[in-house]
Amino acid sequence: MEGLLVCDGQTIVTVNDSFAALVGLAASELVGAQVRQFLPDEGTRLRLLDSPNRALEGDLLTRDGSRNPVELIMRQVDFAGKPHRAIAVRDLRARNSAEQHIRFLAHHDSLTGLPNRSSFNKRLDQEIELAMSSERKLAILCLDIDRFKEVNDLFGHAAGDKMLQSVAARIASTLDRDQMVARLSGDEFAIILSGLSNPAAAGRAAEIIMETLRAGSDRAAEADDASISSSIGIAVCPDDATDPHVLLTHADTALYRAKNEGRGIYRFFEASMGAAVRERRLLEHDLRQAIARQELRLVYQPLREIPSGNAVGFEALVRWRRQARGDVEPSEFIPIAEETGLILPIGEWVLREACRVAATWKQPLTVAVNVSPVQIHNANFAHLLHEILFQTGLPPHRLELEVTETALVRDLNRALETLRRIKMLGVRIAMDDFGTGYSSLSNLRAFPFDKIKIDRSFIKSVNVNGQAAAIVRSVLGLSRALGLPVLAEGVETAAELEFLERENCHQGQGFLLGRPADIETFNELIEGDAAAADRPVVIPANAKALALAAS
Ligand SMILES: [Mg+2]
Repeated sequence: MEGLLVCDGQTIVTVNDSFAALVGLAASELVGAQVRQFLPDEGTRLRLLDSPNRALEGDLLTRDGSRNPVELIMRQVDFAGKPHRAIAVRDLRARNSAEQHIRFLAHHDSLTGLPNRSSFNKRLDQEIELAMSSERKLAILCLDIDRFKEVNDLFGHAAGDKMLQSVAARIASTLDRDQMVARLSGDEFAIILSGLSNPAAAGRAAEIIMETLRAGSDRAAEADDASISSSIGIAVCPDDATDPHVLLTHADTALYRAKNEGRGIYRFFEASMGAAVRERRLLEHDLRQAIARQELRLVYQPLREIPSGNAVGFEALVRWRRQARGDVEPSEFIPIAEETGLILPIGEWVLREACRVAATWKQPLTVAVNVSPVQIHNANFAHLLHEILFQTGLPPHRLELEVTETALVRDLNRALETLRRIKMLGVRIAMDDFGTGYSSLSNLRAFPFDKIKIDRSFIKSVNVNGQAAAIVRSVLGLSRALGLPVLAEGVETAAELEFLERENCHQGQGFLLGRPADIETFNELIEGDAAAADRPVVIPANAKALALAAS
């Protein structure tokens, strides 16, 4: 499909259709024309004539005056009994644009079209050098989107990607041509502001960027023009550092502080901030070692029937005693485990340990284990569960997995598929913390739940808080219609328990009914003979007395 022309000296004798198409004329119009009309550069023509059979690059002038890059090869041929020159012409536009695209990809982020980390680093080196040789300052802004993970979870990755593109475009719209915004990773953007007369100018730029992202339009459901909350950390060269890596780390530290102080704000780096960030990195590092160092353990909190007070099972709760530091709150390390993916090995350990321990109980009580959305979305989860049940010998019906709605919203169909496979093993599934997440009634219908656990925030003072009472009553009504038992979390007072009893709530859990403790604490419940298990047991005796007194 190459263009081909045959010339006698400089005069074209014949051409093929491909060449005619390349220059935009009919083949018949080209006969008798001069080669230089199409290869206007004399140097190219001379080199072509001088070096037969060798490919060289030049420009082809077309009818509309544009010059297109071509590869040319000339060879001597016999044409109609006379020596002629044949020239093959190959269009290089496609190849060149592919090469350009590859060069572009190497330096840009393919999703947003912004410069990537490597271009950012290169530019930062240059800008620091410039700033050092002048009196002017340079600021680095690290920006990330607040709760971006939730956008992905709620609306899916396509919506998340759209939001990143929108953020990229909106940040770029606030910058001058000589300023740079790059996407470093995920929802992390970095901006270089050079030639600043004072650091305050960087703060003003941060405000403008945050405001531009916040503005959005009324159609907030559309990710590309939604109102987006972001946080920014700022480090200034040469005030904070002159090393590019240190400068970026400082801006990141300031960003971390902005997030911790409520998001939607910007913070300048301060030397004292470093300590908090180092502490978090250390925590992450130690958490990685926690399983191997045997620092994790499980405590068990009884789940009791209302009103009998009989224990029906235990919720297994993970605790971490950090080497040389003492206990770390689950609310502190579980989010870190989820962010870093450490929740997979930790979750597996919890599951295995809870099943192993429950399998030794003489009483066939259930053990409830919390499962993170990250685990539910792991393709291997049902398989792993099967293996653990097999290895520990725990009958599947004695295991109950507690799943929050967050696990369902990220990828409804996939979560549904996993939950169905889990149910097929005979394992039961409870919806945990109901009322706090998205509390969609359609989730209750779509998923094969075996129990609803009402979040503690609705149980607190439910006996005096009319709104909470109304919500608890309606959840109980709903569950009756769906044939699902309900457990109330966080039962702490006799008055709360009395309310639940009056409303026919099936089960309860909370400090009043038993605090989380080592399994040995509950020896009487798990080891008791059959007769003991039938006896209404322990704490509610006290609670009911209190409840009666209160009424
Ligand atoms: Mg739970």
